[in-house]
Amino acid sequence: MPEYKQSAKLQNVLYDIRGPVLEEAQRMEDAGHRVLKLNIGNPAPFGFQAPDSILVDVIRNLPHAQGYSESRGILSARTAVSQYYQTRGIQTISVDDIYLGNGVSELITLSLNALLDDGDEILVPAPDYPLWTASTSLAGGRAVHYLTVEEEGWMPDLEDMEAKITPRTKGIVVINPNNPTGAVYPKPVLEGILELARKHGLIVFADEIYEKITYEGAEAINVASLADDVLTLTFSGLSKAYRLCGFRAGWMAISGPKHLASDYIEGLNLLTNMRLCANVPAQHAIQTALGGYQSINDLILPGGRLLEQRNLAYKLLNEIPGVSCQQAHGAMYLFPKLDPEVYPIQNDERFALDLLKQQKILITQGTGFNWVKPDHFRLVTLPGVELLEDAIGRIAEYLEDLREH
Ligand code: PLP
Repeated sequence: MPEYKQSAKLQNVLYDIRGPVLEEAQRMEDAGHRVLKLNIGNPAPFGFQAPDSILVDVIRNLPHAQGYSESRGILSARTAVSQYYQTRGIQTISVDDIYLGNGVSELITLSLNALLDDGDEILVPAPDYPLWTASTSLAGGRAVHYLTVEEEGWMPDLEDMEAKITPRTKGIVVINPNNPTGAVYPKPVLEGILELARKHGLIVFADEIYEKITYEGAEAINVASLADDVLTLTFSGLSKAYRLCGFRAGWMAISGPKHLASDYIEGLNLLTNMRLCANVPAQHAIQTALGGYQSINDLILPGGRLLEQRNLAYKLLNEIPGVSCQQAHGAMYLFPKLDPEVYPIQNDERFALDLLKQQKILITQGTGFNWVKPDHFRLVTLPGVELLEDAIGRIAEYLEDLREH
């Protein structure tokens, strides 16, 4: 019998958010256990609803959404996105620079595939949202991780970033607000990154999918609004701020000196054409989402569910001996540290698996985000306060057990 093997291309491709620990959780659920899943930033299962106006508009447009659309997406949605960015200060964007995709995920893969030759390098933060690292590897490139510094609120270490630039470096990934750390970068940090990009001729890949989810006045600045002389690809979509992960509706906007990128843009267009178009019914949600009432504010302002849950999770995690956690200023995650003196964990995937088996809590281990040591994990702050209390209580119980043995 022949053996059917995966391609060598996948050898360095890792995506642990949906990896072996989740598979074990699914086995446990199949066996009748109730597992508390704090591993994925998917608002819907935790009772978050998209605004009705968006759903109504999609339903109304369904009859017109049966055919393929133009590859880059329907005009009304792309116009809405380009107008949105113009009002946010990105001057060099027009409708033609907007690409709609099946979530930001598809566009991340597409943008790297169109750019990278084997061995080309992309600077990616550590920790990162691991799709950036995985997609770089899949495209034949090498993700080189620049450090972000926990003690400084997980700000990028610009010296480390510059030290890692080589003649093969093609771009810098900036995830702001950050998943998994919740950091929101102030203007001088973004300007520092732009300065490096300018100096070394690099493209900035700005993953800003959490830009509308910030707390206590933190402001997520679109990095592309700070420079019109740096080629920037800005990514965002409906998954988070509009609680529509399942629609798979995202976009990418190209700004800056596009005349220097006509060959790359031709490559982007080729790949965009090859996948025909993004899910058309969901494209009809975009204009209403961007133009309508921004209900995310009800969740992040004082009294809002996301803010309260973040506050509670932060407090409870920091109360556990040997656990310390920076506050998240954006997004919907916390990335606590387990003091290695208290918890000498060698393999954090095994830690996550053990926690799952003993307490039926699913988190994602820090190395799943390409963090450099097995001493962190990511918790999703989406569950309501009762569930969060229960979940963090169980984590505390498990850790107490670890301390005693
Ligand atoms: N980028 C970041 C930073 C994310 O956290 C996620 C999803 O969690 C994505 C991109 C993917 O989003 P989408 O649902 O638009 O594919």
